Amino acid sequence: MLTKLYLHGPASRFDLMGATGLSSATVSNVVTDLVADGLVAEAGLLDSDGGRPRTLLEVRPGYARVVGVDIGETHVQVGLFDWTLDTLATATYRMDEGRPEPAVLAGLVTAGIEEVTAKAGADPAALLGVGVGIPGTVLPDGLVHAPTFGWSGVPFDALLRPHVAAPLHLDNCARTLGQAEMWRGAGRGAQRAIVALLAVGVGAAVATGSPGGVTSTTSEWGHTVVEAGGAPCRCGSYGCLEAYVGAEAILRHYRQIPGAPAPASTGVEERITDLVTEAARPGPAADTVRWAAEYLGIGIANLVNLLSPDRVILSGWLSMALGPAMLPAVHDAMRRHSLDYMAAGTRLELGRLGQEAVALGAATLPVHELLTDGGR
Ligand SMILES: [Zn+2]
Repeated sequence: MLTKLYLHGPASRFDLMGATGLSSATVSNVVTDLVADGLVAEAGLLDSDGGRPRTLLEVRPGYARVVGVDIGETHVQVGLFDWTLDTLATATYRMDEGRPEPAVLAGLVTAGIEEVTAKAGADPAALLGVGVGIPGTVLPDGLVHAPTFGWSGVPFDALLRPHVAAPLHLDNCARTLGQAEMWRGAGRGAQRAIVALLAVGVGAAVATGSPGGVTSTTSEWGHTVVEAGGAPCRCGSYGCLEAYVGAEAILRHYRQIPGAPAPASTGVEERITDLVTEAARPGPAADTVRWAAEYLGIGIANLVNLLSPDRVILSGWLSMALGPAMLPAVHDAMRRHSLDYMAAGTRLELGRLGQEAVALGAATLPVHELLTDGGR
């Protein structure tokens, strides 16, 4: 019942009976408990065609606060959200590119939690939980494999845990982003969505919606090959998608075009912003966007032919920066490289969660646990 109210918005006791198959007495008892616990509140009356008006119920945003942490390759972003995932405060720390030490990253995470809770006057120990999204794989024992950071079996969970007063959850950032886009963003209502996280690295989650919630799994889409004997990739292979559509790959291609101006900014994110501005008129920047769009379209077409998704969502900071300039060309390439009848049922769109998407995705981890087992 709580999941239904959380994911689908206000509903009456009668609606909850229909959605869960529970009896009127059970629904009534559970609602009484949820209201007493502060999770749910009454939200006005709904006219019901001449009958007695029905009371609507909705989740109470003030019930709890959660923190979500986006550990990227160019920044650490920490967000404080209410448990319905409205943003209360954020803190962003830029990082030099390279391979950050686990202890340095753990220090940024704890500093971020302190900063956002202080900004909003929240008690760090009273948080529902802290979710951390990592560009890698988190094993059940908390060890992290993150090839992009050069991490192999790093005990990141054990490094962080002593400094975090609330329950701590770690997971892959593409998977949590997929969950957030399905709950709150461009994936709402999709049956099978692929949520692509475009940044320096490239990943994708396959998210499946069902009345009971959403399940998502990650894939190493960025390391699927789109060109035999192609550009060298960080993973040691050649021709991987990430070597064409990752932020650094795009900037590298741009630099190599004769006549491209020397970069005016130093950071990867700033240089991408400059490139997008430049791409508004014909020239090396516009050519670079078209070049990357072709490879991105090929990567998406492969997913369309393999998995037949009804929606493909481009999310992550690079999608937000580059997406509006690139989307028509990506769509065109997707159509040309996939089978017509497969692509006909696929909608391609940009994520709707903005710059905080990945932090918001991480914040779904403690909420998901609450919805699954009551948080106990
Ligand atoms: Zn690779």
